Amino acid sequence: MTVAAIIVAAGRGTRMGGGEPKQWRALAGRPVLAHAVAGLRAAGVAPIVLVLHPDDIGRADVPAGCALVPGADSRDGSVRAGLAALAVDPPAHVLIHDGARPFPGQAMVARLIAALETHPGAAPALPVTDALWRGAAGLVAGVQDRSGLFRAQTPQAFRYGAITAAHAAHPGGAADDVEVARAAGLDVAIVEGDEDNLKLTYPADFDRAERILKGRGMDIRIGNGFDVHAFCDGDHVWLCGVAVPHGRGLLGHSDADVGMHALTDAIYGALGLGDIGVHFPPSDPQWKGAPSRIFLAHAMEQVAARGYRLANCDVTLICERPKVGPHQAAMRAALAAIMGVEDTRISVKATTSERLGFTGREEGIAAMATAALVAA
Ligand code: MG
Repeated sequence: MTVAAIIVAAGRGTRMGGGEPKQWRALAGRPVLAHAVAGLRAAGVAPIVLVLHPDDIGRADVPAGCALVPGADSRDGSVRAGLAALAVDPPAHVLIHDGARPFPGQAMVARLIAALETHPGAAPALPVTDALWRGAAGLVAGVQDRSGLFRAQTPQAFRYGAITAAHAAHPGGAADDVEVARAAGLDVAIVEGDEDNLKLTYPADFDRAERILKGRGMDIRIGNGFDVHAFCDGDHVWLCGVAVPHGRGLLGHSDADVGMHALTDAIYGALGLGDIGVHFPPSDPQWKGAPSRIFLAHAMEQVAARGYRLANCDVTLICERPKVGPHQAAMRAALAAIMGVEDTRISVKATTSERLGFTGREEGIAAMATAALVAA
């Protein structure tokens, strides 16, 4: 079931001061909007449509991997543009989020999606806990009953067909998508929101967002991989993306690049996504003789799709021969090109097993790898 998101970030609101619209202000080194994208991705939401001011579409700091749509003059016009961009391949559900809220939490998103099983719409909110007063001329003029009052948040979640029809029927001018849905007669469930899911409006909100990020610490994920391939007849072996001349080949269903297989499994492992065999079954003839870079590139796509990036990886090849040292730089460069990272994040090294065991008897090559991922 596809759950897509539309992040509305076309506004020019500058109440934060500093000139830059708040969704583009840097928070821990990247735009507020990039945090929102990473948060939704980490919750498994894809695809993500960004509705941007036309002047912002060419910015260098636009979060990668999102569909970009120019916004309209009004908020609801921008949402309709985002819904239209999803029409070619309609998702089951769509989350409509405000680009100035950098922390849409995974648990809250899961609650919203679950609520759509029983309601056409669901929106996060928190009960009002402070006392509410009416004021006039600087004086307390009365007490407002707070029972039944909620502070509304985004993302607001809807069945895609229902909210698209509701927007098409609405005359315009709605404050948010819940208002549009209710005007069309759709029930919208109130789902527990998240105190950290703040909307950045004033400079003090920004300070609080920085404190929230610091309090979370680093989200680090580690995976390991191990692989073995036996020698067979041949005149070269593929190791970490480089064809190394050798008096033997390596036996395998694909190109038998044992180092790249160990590395790919380390990345899948860090994400909890099993191993290469799950994603590219050896029983499937289409992968026979396949270049292993397909597997590694797929694993890296999963990293980005889940809101992570590679911090570093380390591959150890275990063999008596061929000698790996002369090819180490080319291997790091080949892996860097496939993975889309700098080669300083990649290590390839080799060891013998002192002539012991199957690698020592030169029956095959073994490889082990570690990969570390951090939140993007
Ligand atoms: Mg293998």
